Amino acid sequence: MGHLFLVFCVCFVVSFFWESYLKVINYRYAQDPKLKDKAKEQFHLSYEDSDKALAYRKDRFFYSFYVSLVSTAATVVVIFSGLFGYLEGVCEKIASSLGFGSSASSTVEGLVFFAICICASTLINLPFSYYSQFVIEQKHGFNKMTRKLFVIDSLKSLIISLILTGVVLVPLLWFISNYELWWLYSWIFISIFSVVLTWVYPTFIQPLFNTFTPLQKDGDLNQALIKLAKKAEFNVDDISTMNASIRSTHGNAYFSGIFKKKIVLYDTLVKALSASQVAAVLAHELGHFKLGHIRWGVLRTILKMGIVFWMVSYLAQSEAMVEGFGFSAMEPMKPYVILLFFFLWQGVVESILTPIMSYISRRDEFAADAYAVSMVNGKDLVDGLLKLSKNSHQFPFFHPLYSMVYHSHPPLTERFEAIQKAMTTTNASLS
Ligand SMILES: [Zn+2]
Repeated sequence: MGHLFLVFCVCFVVSFFWESYLKVINYRYAQDPKLKDKAKEQFHLSYEDSDKALAYRKDRFFYSFYVSLVSTAATVVVIFSGLFGYLEGVCEKIASSLGFGSSASSTVEGLVFFAICICASTLINLPFSYYSQFVIEQKHGFNKMTRKLFVIDSLKSLIISLILTGVVLVPLLWFISNYELWWLYSWIFISIFSVVLTWVYPTFIQPLFNTFTPLQKDGDLNQALIKLAKKAEFNVDDISTMNASIRSTHGNAYFSGIFKKKIVLYDTLVKALSASQVAAVLAHELGHFKLGHIRWGVLRTILKMGIVFWMVSYLAQSEAMVEGFGFSAMEPMKPYVILLFFFLWQGVVESILTPIMSYISRRDEFAADAYAVSMVNGKDLVDGLLKLSKNSHQFPFFHPLYSMVYHSHPPLTERFEAIQKAMTTTNASLS
């Protein structure tokens, strides 16, 4: 186990270079002037549209490159400067000055440690998200956010993440302090928590950021959606629009609810597409729901966390990790240090699994498109997706390796081909 710290450092550095390499080849791939002709032919993008999309991709490329450079450098500095050891001392002092008994004091120490980490990372991220919103998005005409809303959003997010982290940490720290099988109990708790969160998030948290307005009962769109829901045998409880336009012009739609079936449409989507195109986009989302993609997604996440918890229950015993990160080596290990290792290893496992998760997600996207074609006119789906992509200045071509690793959605060329094929089969079965 002595080399574990080294293994972690190597994984960390390799993943930074691998990700940067993929971003660079994808950026250079799009520079090929022939692609603009292809975009014109296949997607009816004028040269001007292509130039806009390429300019947006360039800005996003440099932004994401610098963000990962700074965050990697910051992590390296934190690990090797002994900052964690210093922080450990500070948390010990705060916990003991609050006068808790020894068993409660290790939980309080852990809470203080993670609270400081969350506040620090929020502070470091703030200038980056400001730049993303008020420089890049602004320049390309997507930003609708005021600076006041940015401040309010940031404060709200910080408070919510502190509360949610506290709710998760107290039982986890307690399991680790008291049980040999802590990883199993922690896994069960986190699994239940993530299912409950799929209900809590849209019901209590999302309304803190947006207002939801029920869709007008007599409008074209409402009628198109009711017709679709009837055909799909889907009992919808509520159709609302969400004022996404207070932040950005990017459009989207989603389903929520395990207990109450709710359809949420971004007002930007409703504005950009015709009623039948919105219905087609929604038919695709309905496909995800009907084909069980959402449930399987939750199960996959739960399985992944189980593996990491089990793994960490072994890895966490490593003294080399504890000392490598600058914490004082003591027996038994502090519960919050074990949890910190859980989050760090989870990051490593996550990046190794990314291509597999992307593959599964792309397969689901094709299936949801095929479902949509069986419910609505496939041409509406193609036109709707095309409009959304054009409005958000997306250049439709990507390096195949980049696409294979990262894309949760297949490139539009592949999707349109598959939709076309599905339409032919549907028409053939009708006649
Ligand atoms: Zn989808």
